[in-house]
Amino acid sequence: MKEILQDYSFDELVRLVEEYGEQTFRATQLYRGLMQGKRISDVNLSKTLKEKLLERFENEPVVIERVFTGSDGTEKYLFRLADGNLIEGVFMKYAYGNTQCVSTQVGCRMGCLFCASTLGGLVRNLSSGEILSQVLVVNARHGGTLEKRQVTNLVLMGSGEPLDNYDNTVKFLRLVTAEGGINVSARNISLSTCGLVPKMYELANEGIPLNLTVSLHNTNDEDRGRTMPIARKYKIEEILKACAYYFEKTGRRYIFEYSLIKNENCDKEHGDALIKLLKGKPCHVNLIRLNEVKERNLDTITEKEAYRFLGQLQKGGLSATLRRRIGNDIGGACGQLRASYRKETGEE
Ligand code: SAH
Repeated sequence: MKEILQDYSFDELVRLVEEYGEQTFRATQLYRGLMQGKRISDVNLSKTLKEKLLERFENEPVVIERVFTGSDGTEKYLFRLADGNLIEGVFMKYAYGNTQCVSTQVGCRMGCLFCASTLGGLVRNLSSGEILSQVLVVNARHGGTLEKRQVTNLVLMGSGEPLDNYDNTVKFLRLVTAEGGINVSARNISLSTCGLVPKMYELANEGIPLNLTVSLHNTNDEDRGRTMPIARKYKIEEILKACAYYFEKTGRRYIFEYSLIKNENCDKEHGDALIKLLKGKPCHVNLIRLNEVKERNLDTITEKEAYRFLGQLQKGGLSATLRRRIGNDIGGACGQLRASYRKETGEE
């Protein structure tokens, strides 16, 4: 695979263009073109510069291979990377703006039992420019420009564990929030982690005011470890300390993801334990009914039961909501689409 030009910040592009002996304004043209989701070959550049760039860099690092539109208008994408690998993403329209869910790795090595992204293990990390390009091509597809973006909110909740690909993820965050670029506000970005504690501290020190989300999914380490192998390495207590540090550094409330799994984590005792664990903390709990993954033997609870659990948490003093299962009919949950598409096309 060639290099990824979208990995470059504007300043890095300026240096690159100078190395090629071109004038600096070419870097501005190039940067603006790339940020509009254009291929190198479609950017307005001198022929010689274009040829030099195409020798060394991928013309189109992320291509939309397929689009699935759900009954609720949610779009789900399969993206093809330059080396042939597939990743997925989601685009959801809300009253307050449009949210895109991006992937940070091909596959994942965290091994959470309920998650389809992990089925084939980790294939490879995405580069910062490959993460960014997902946003650039989807923004362009929806007619977005740099002046008027169509992607206003981002969640790092596609395939992969963002903090397991730390440097590329942080570089991506700097690229996507850069002024003059697509410039998504850090406050509109949520990063979700299964709880890689040392990296949570590092992230708190980066000075990027994004929303930190942690996948909790249980109330004690032993039970959590049944579905999330990482729980054997980092304890809930350590996660809570890292969250408190994040709040101290950024002043931002943190969020816990809690996927409701029948007979695992959402009985009345779990509700009581969750209240005890989180009461008084500057956090919010996002409940979601598990998207059942065919390959795994896990079920979710009914909507009514989910509302009962939600009510229990709220009565106990927690800030909590039950998320809609967006795009459920199109394999909305992490890794489900890629897994089924690879089966269908025999790419396994
Ligand atoms: N690796 C990160 C981001 C992954 S996905 C993390 O673990 O947080 C975003 C969220 O979806 C996580 O909370 C994850 O646990 C959850 N999730 C994964 N598969 C799911 C499924 N089948 N149903 C419901 N939630 C799921």
